[in-house]
Amino acid sequence: MEKKYVAEPYKIKVVEPIAVTSRAQREEVIKKAGYNTFLINSSDVYIDLLTDSGTTAMSDNQWAGIMMGDEAYAGSKNFMKLQEAVREVYGFKYIVPTHQGRGAENILSQITIKEGDYIPGNMYFTTTRAHQEMNGGTFVDVIIDEAHDSANENPFKGNIDLKKFENLIDEVGADKIPYICVAVTVNLAGGQPVSMKNLKEVSKLAKENGIMVMYDATRCVENAYFIKEREEGYQDKSIAEILKEMMSYADGCTMSGKKDCLVNIGGFLAINDEKLYQKATQLVVVYEGMPSYGGMSGRDMEAMARGIYESVDYNYIHHRITQCRYLGDKLSDAGIPIVKPVGGHAVFLDAKQFYPHIPQDEFPAQMLAAQLYLKSGVRSMERGIISAGRDKDGNNYHPKLELVRLTIPRRVYTYAHMDVVADSIIDLYKERDKVKGLKMVYEPPVLRFFTARFEPLK
Ligand SMILES: *Cc1c(COP(=O)(O)O)cnc(C)c1O
Repeated sequence: MEKKYVAEPYKIKVVEPIAVTSRAQREEVIKKAGYNTFLINSSDVYIDLLTDSGTTAMSDNQWAGIMMGDEAYAGSKNFMKLQEAVREVYGFKYIVPTHQGRGAENILSQITIKEGDYIPGNMYFTTTRAHQEMNGGTFVDVIIDEAHDSANENPFKGNIDLKKFENLIDEVGADKIPYICVAVTVNLAGGQPVSMKNLKEVSKLAKENGIMVMYDATRCVENAYFIKEREEGYQDKSIAEILKEMMSYADGCTMSGKKDCLVNIGGFLAINDEKLYQKATQLVVVYEGMPSYGGMSGRDMEAMARGIYESVDYNYIHHRITQCRYLGDKLSDAGIPIVKPVGGHAVFLDAKQFYPHIPQDEFPAQMLAAQLYLKSGVRSMERGIISAGRDKDGNNYHPKLELVRLTIPRRVYTYAHMDVVADSIIDLYKERDKVKGLKMVYEPPVLRFFTARFEPLK
C-alpha cells in the first residue's frame, strides 16, 4: 500500500555524496569490523542510521551564526545568547555549558551523589548510569512495566511507575535519593514519551520527600510533540508552551545538544538552585573550561542557541516524528516485528522475534545489524545484550529487549532513503531462517558495545 508522508519543510542548499558499495566490498568491510557496526568507517556506509547524536544537518541560519563566534576566554557574547535561549525556551535559571551531555552528567553526579545513594530513573542510559555508579550511586529502574514489552501500545510508555518510586523511598529513605532522573523521551525503551500528567505527579511526590527532579532532556522536544498529539488538553498548545510546562516540573536537566538542540557537538547542565550552580561552576573549570564556555567554542554556543529556537518550530518536529513513523509503519505493514508505538527518534527492530531461532547469548540483534549492512550498506546498531553489559559480579545482563536501532538523523535523509532501508529489511525477513548467530571474540571491560568483535557461528 502506498504510504502518505509529510514532505520536507526545507530545501537542499549543500549536498554530501555518500558511498555506493558492492556486496563483495561490504563483505570485506564487515569482516574487518568484527561484525560490529561501530567499527565500520563511515566512508563505507550508504545510509547511516547508527545514531541521531551529532549527525544533524544545521540550517543556513545556524551556519551564519558560526561566523558570529566570539572566542573570548571569558564572557563570550555567544554564551549570553545561549543562556538567554535556555532561559526563554526551557525556563531554567542557570546554565553550565559542557562538551556534550555526558560532561553535564559527570558534573551533576559529582555534586549530588554520595556513596550508597540511589538514583531512580525511567530505564537506564549507558553514560548516565556509568556516571551515577562511578560516584557510588546505584541506579534503580522505576519505569512502568509496559516499557519492557515491545508490543505494548501504551501512548506514554516512558512514564515513571509512581508505586515503584514510592516503594524505593520507603525502602532506602528519601535522604538516600538525591534526585530522580526522568528521561524525556526514553531512548532505550524506543524513544517513548512521558506524559505531562506523569511529570506533574512525579514532581509532587518528589517534592513531598525533598527529592530533586532532574530531567535527561536530550529529546525533550520530541516528548513535547507526543504530548501535543496524544494528551488531552494539549492539542491547541504550541510545542514551545508544552516544553516550558514540562520543564516547570523539574529542578534542572542535563542536555546533550547533539540531539534536540540541532547541533553537532555540545551540551549543558541547567539548574535552578543557586548553591548547586556554584558547586557546578567549581567543577566545570576542572573538567571542561571557564563557566562561560565549558566545553564549547563561542561559535558552537551560537549555533546551539539558534538550534534551540529552531527546534520548537512545529513544522520541523512534525516532519521529524512523521518520518520515523513512516519507516516504522512500512516495516510493520510488512509483518516485521518492531517496538510499538514508534518513538521519536528511531525505529527499533525486535531481534528476538526477527530471529527466534538464535538464542540471546548468540547475539541476534548484533547479527541483524551486520546482515542489514551486508544487504544494502545501511548502518544500524545493537541495543540488547551487548549494550547492557555485565553486572558487578561479571554476569551478563539479559535485557528483555533485544533490539536493533535504526536512528534517524535530523533533517538529513529523505523518504526515498527510508524506502531503501525498509525494503532491505523486508528482504532480510524473507531470508531469516538461513541466518545463524555470532560468538564474541574480543570484549573490552567497559561499554563493550563500542569495540567488541565477533565471528559468525558455523
Ligand atoms: C546521547 C545521550 C546522552 C549522552 O549525551 P552525549 O552528548 O552523547 O554525551 C544522555 N542521555 C541520553 C538519553 C542520550 O541519548
